[in-house]
Formats: sequence, structure tokens, C-alpha cells
Amino acid sequence: MRPAPPVEPDDGPDEHAVDEGPGPAAGRLPPGLYIVAGPIGNLEDLTARAARILREADLVACEDTRVTAKLLRAAGSARPMLPYHDHSAPNVTARLIDRMASESVALVSDAGTPLISDPGYGLVREARARGIPVTSAPGPSAAVMALSISGLPTDRFLFAGFLPPKAAARDKAIAGLAGVPATLVFYETGPRIAATLAAMAQALGAREAVVARELTKRHEEVLTGTLAALADRLAGTEPRGEIVLVVGPPAAEVTGAEALDQALLTALKTMAPGKAAASVAAALGVPRGDAYARAMALKAQP
Ligand code: SAM
Repeated sequence: MRPAPPVEPDDGPDEHAVDEGPGPAAGRLPPGLYIVAGPIGNLEDLTARAARILREADLVACEDTRVTAKLLRAAGSARPMLPYHDHSAPNVTARLIDRMASESVALVSDAGTPLISDPGYGLVREARARGIPVTSAPGPSAAVMALSISGLPTDRFLFAGFLPPKAAARDKAIAGLAGVPATLVFYETGPRIAATLAAMAQALGAREAVVARELTKRHEEVLTGTLAALADRLAGTEPRGEIVLVVGPPAAEVTGAEALDQALLTALKTMAPGKAAASVAAALGVPRGDAYARAMALKAQP
């Protein structure tokens, strides 16, 4: 087995003091910050490009070096790691930013896409402010995967991350989202999911929802139903593993989406997609680009 990649101390000397192992020579990547997405449970989801960047970067900034050591091994990388969190000392951020001027720094998180309920925002902001190139090797994110398999409207969605853990603050946050005319996506935990569903059933009414658990893993499970039905089903349980909760939009939005489809299907019988979209967009007051995208999607359906 390949040895674990070395870990750089977070306030040690600003040198490659540690053995960089047998990986390819550093410096093949142009200097800058590379936001690298990793798997959300299944190592096969590490993209070829992400793996290459992890092999070629001068330095890999990460949350937990034990977790990232496994990722680097899977990528065939022996690049040095440096722990980074949004609450890292300012000198850690400053040191990383300094290095990006002449070196390539990859940022990974423990799972999925960095910055999506994970560290990195401060680093990207600072890098941009300094004119340092920032790019990404995009890949999995649990929120997008759950949304894409939910069967709920995907044309407009709001990612709300984790709700506050305390009931009063959670309920206030849910109430604040009640009027949002979009599908809502949350990260949740097993011990809290039943109570969250019950609170949402109260505050948001009869909406469809999906509980997506352990995505891409052996015990992947997707439960569908109204908020109340899912709350009943999970009452008294604490499902294991990681969870994304997707909640459909308020009823008016569903009706709106259905109305758009109906109008487009009628128009497409006699018009080309561009004309159909323009006419329906004007009639329903929706953006022409949205109507055109939906018209093309409807036309492509068998
Ligand atoms: N950056 C990650 C991403 O792009 O999805 C999210 C990191 S956040 C700290 C971790 C949360 O994401 C978990 O508590 C869970 O809600 C969700 N999550 C991550 N992996 C998941 C999976 N395989 N199945 C379901 N939810 C997952």
C-alpha cells in the first residue's frame, strides 16, 4: 500500500520540509487556487481531473488530514497536506494566499464540493481580492444529487444548508422560507430529521418532500411523500447516516409549472420552439429563456 501523504504543520516553516513522496514533480499546474470536489461516499465518483489536480498540486489544503489521506491515496497522490478551516488562524489563510502567488494550492473538504456547507469561502474571497486565479475541478455535491433524483421541480431551488439545531431557531428559519417560490434543499441529521419534518409539516403545509439518505453508498435510500406522511413514517426513529431533505415549492409554484407546460405543449403543436416560448412567455409573464428551455425539454420528451 502507498504510504499516507505527508501533513504540513499549519504554522510551521513555509517550506516543503516534508518528504513529498513518489508522486509526479510539483509545479506542473499554474499557480492559483483549485477548488477540488471529492466523492460523497463512493470513491468511484472522484473525477479523473480532480485526481490529476490532487497529484500535481504543490499543496493540498483540507479539513481532516486522515480523511484526505485516503482520498489522496485513491488519487495516487503523495502531495503534502495542510489543515484549513474557516476558523483557522489568520496566519494560516495568509500563508496559503502567499503561496498561491507562486504555487498551486488545491482545496478539498471531507466530502463533496468545498464551500457547500464546508470551509473555503474566506480563502476564495481573499484569493479573488488579491487577483489570484481561482478555478475548480467540479464534482459531486449531496444537495445537487438529492435534488436531481427527487422528482421535485428543479427549475428553481434554494439551498438552505443545515437548519439551526435548537427548535425555536429552527422554526423561525423554516417560517422565513415558507414564502420562497422554489424547491428547498436542506442538510439534516438522523437524530433530527423526524422533528424537522414534523415542524415543516406544521409551518409549510401539504408539500411533497424527499428524504435522501446515504447517497452513492451501499445503503442509499430515498423516501418520498408529503411532509406529514414522512414525519409520521420517521417518528421515533433516528435513521443512520447522512441525509438531504428536499421540500417541494408552495402549491402555487407547482400549478405555475404545470400551467407553463400546458401552454407550451399547446403552442408547440403549431409553432417552432422559439416562437412557442416567446408567445407563452409573454402570456404568462415568465422569462423567455426559461420558457424556451422548458419548450426544448418538452420537445425532447418521447
Ligand atoms: N460539501 C458537501 C457536499 O458538497 O455535499 C457537504 C458537506 S456537509 C458538512 C455534510 C452534510 O452533507 C451531511 O450532514 C449530509 O446532510 C450531507 N451529505 C453529505 N454526503 C451525503 C450523502 N452521501 N448522502 C446524503 N447526504 C449527504
